[in-house]
Amino acid sequence: MKSCKMEGCDKPVAGRGLCHMHYKRWARHGDPEVTMVKKECKEEGCERRHFCKGYCEPHYRRMRKRKA
Ligand SMILES: [Zn+2]
Ligand SMILES: [Zn+2]
Repeated sequence: MKSCKMEGCDKPVAGRGLCHMHYKRWARHGDPEVTMVKKECKEEGCERRHFCKGYCEPHYRRMRKRKA
């Protein structure tokens, strides 16, 4: 029996080469890896919860103010 094509996942395939969990994730979000995205701010040393574009709320606002 084939197993899920996602790395580190050896559950049996349900559809599109993905196991049931990854297939549902793909169907819902269009990306089977979506929940592997870090849900924390990507600013170094910041552990606040993710708000938008990979940043927490204060860091996101700060980033938006900055005009590259
Ligand atoms: Zn899987
Ligand atoms: Zn932050």
